[in-house]
Amino acid sequence: MMSNTTLKPGVVTGEAYATLVNAAKTGGYALPAVNVTGTNTINAVMEAAANANSDIIIQLSNSGAQFYAGRGIADGFKAKVMGAVAAAQHAHLLAEYYGICVVMHTDHANRALIPWIEAMLDEGEKYYEQHGKPLYSSHMLDLSADPIDFNLNESARILERMSKIDMSLEIELGVTGGEEDGIGSDFDEAADNSRLYTQPADVLQAYELLNPIGHFSVAASFGNVHGVYKPGNVKLRPEILKNSQALVQQTQGTSNNPLHLVFHGGSGSEKSKIAEAVTYGVFKMNIDTDTQFAFSQPVGRFVEANEKAFKFQVDPEDGTPYKKFYDPRQYLRLGEEGIIARLQEACEDLGSKGRSIARV
Ligand SMILES: [Zn+2]
Repeated sequence: MMSNTTLKPGVVTGEAYATLVNAAKTGGYALPAVNVTGTNTINAVMEAAANANSDIIIQLSNSGAQFYAGRGIADGFKAKVMGAVAAAQHAHLLAEYYGICVVMHTDHANRALIPWIEAMLDEGEKYYEQHGKPLYSSHMLDLSADPIDFNLNESARILERMSKIDMSLEIELGVTGGEEDGIGSDFDEAADNSRLYTQPADVLQAYELLNPIGHFSVAASFGNVHGVYKPGNVKLRPEILKNSQALVQQTQGTSNNPLHLVFHGGSGSEKSKIAEAVTYGVFKMNIDTDTQFAFSQPVGRFVEANEKAFKFQVDPEDGTPYKKFYDPRQYLRLGEEGIIARLQEACEDLGSKGRSIARV
């Protein structure tokens, strides 16, 4: 189904963000959510999206935000906050010139990082007062390691604050397991362990509490893991998502696929399972390590092929000047091009290629 809905290019928040999420869900595609750490990676992700004619989600982890601000800032906490602010301001200034819609988001924040979220919201509220829109489209609060009541009550408290400035919250439900559980060594035990899969009843509980407060999305565990397991150790079961949607729909009398679902830890997943998950309302898929390698690999090749230029400004034997090789723009651009190429594939896999709803 093609959507006739359009949005202005640039960072989308509030109603526009909700429109973009719904366009993806009804259009049967998901958006790549790519982790960035500086202007090179942000710009490369926006250029990739423009090339693919796809809208895109840009996200920063707390350490990515700190790196954005610079390692030289002695107060690491302040750097995590101000780096996130700087990245969002960069996107607000430039995204529209790429002609696509950009969602600005922060990645996993566990219990210890609640103060980071709250400090970003202080900044977001200030920005909202001046500009009538928030800095970020959404933040993620991942309290899945805590008891579900704590997870949901804290999520509700934070969402109350966020919805006042037109922001959305991403939460995580379900224990993804870990070595301390003794899970992961035994395939059969892992595959049968219900704790590895989000329970639809928990998703319903989240919907009942959070939906009246504001816009939110759910990262549910359906066999996806954050690099704890060897590939194939846990079976991807997208029907968990289908069952969660059905339970909420029946209990609450909503329309089809009421939940906005997010796919974490999907690296190496079978394409058919990704496509199936998208039909159950997944609108966002996180991509991080693949784009890190896509950036670094061409840089490594360039350094290898031009070894002397990284040792001498001028060739000691024949006097050849190497400036055009060691100029950081040369190899940083190659890294950017690596990300751009990798994300064309991601947009194809997720069905977002050619589907941008941005119109000038
Ligand atoms: Zn996660």
